[in-house]
Amino acid sequence: MRHIKLITALALTLCLSFTLVAKPKIRIIATGGTIAGVSATSASSAYTAGQVGIQTLIDAVPQILQLADISGEQLVNIGSQDMNDEVWLKLAKRINVLLNEEGYDGIVITHGTDTMEETAYFLNLTVKSDKPVILAGSMRPSNAISADGPANLYNAVAAAVSPACKGMGVLCCMNNQLLDAKTVIKTHTIDCDTFEGGPSGIIGYIYNGEAHILQAPMNKHTKESEFDVTKLDKLPKVGIVYGYANASPLPMQAFVDAKFDGIVLAGVGDGNFYKDVFEVAVKAQNQGIQIVRSSRCPTGPTCLNSEVDDAKYHFVAALDLNPQKARVLLMLALTKTHNWQEIQEFFMKY
Ligand code: ASP
Repeated sequence: MRHIKLITALALTLCLSFTLVAKPKIRIIATGGTIAGVSATSASSAYTAGQVGIQTLIDAVPQILQLADISGEQLVNIGSQDMNDEVWLKLAKRINVLLNEEGYDGIVITHGTDTMEETAYFLNLTVKSDKPVILAGSMRPSNAISADGPANLYNAVAAAVSPACKGMGVLCCMNNQLLDAKTVIKTHTIDCDTFEGGPSGIIGYIYNGEAHILQAPMNKHTKESEFDVTKLDKLPKVGIVYGYANASPLPMQAFVDAKFDGIVLAGVGDGNFYKDVFEVAVKAQNQGIQIVRSSRCPTGPTCLNSEVDDAKYHFVAALDLNPQKARVLLMLALTKTHNWQEIQEFFMKY
């Protein structure tokens, strides 16, 4: 009897100490990008993105093994200029399985910086968990002098294990900063300090391996989102038309002819069209192709019923979303409804 008690006590102590020292389980999903890129020489700026695999990225930053129980998987290995709807759907579904069925505590996604903001926003609307989901990339290839990838990966893992990052929606972790999926934007073509959080600023920063949060995102996201990709194997077709002086209506017309489901205008100023483009947009909307007005201006909202009478034409105003993120939301919105007022409400919420 005494033996049994002793063995039980020992087993309990072992269990308890294991629970106390167990590190958070973090999965790194690699998709390519410059963080996995290789240049001809360490001093050369000519390089190819998406060359090295997940294990090489993990091996380059052994310090992350102190923060978490790390495992990795390679989803694709591409420059993010080649990111597409198919990969987005795979990624969102995979993350939902890892977080909701396989017991992972957080996800880090390595990704190219060119379209990181779009992927982050897509996941912000389709991941069904409040556990941390953090995207990280780099501006310098993996073999460059002073490559920024390893520090960004380390910081991303630090964010993924941090309880402070729970419930914050999907975040990007670049250059020591944490940025919200809705507002983050790549602002510089080559600098390491390229990401900004727009007028609302950054969500927080990583210092000394710890996440410090300054504010929470205001919009609905992740667990609160009503978009569900579980049963989707493709997304509605939505294109973007760029606005400029004396603009040709041909790109807009081409999307109409190709039977796209929606078109986002990267308009001038407060989402304004050139008159010839406007004419095609009105016809498209009457044919059931949803027009969303956004702006090519880097800051400021595209306001509802301002210079353009949206209520009259049944256009939707993108409000705080830039054209590339308005495209993401419009695609998801069109999986639920074709009613312009309901779509406008999505733009107010997300
Ligand atoms: N073209 C690269 C990509 O987006 C750039 C980068 O990762 O910084 O994959």
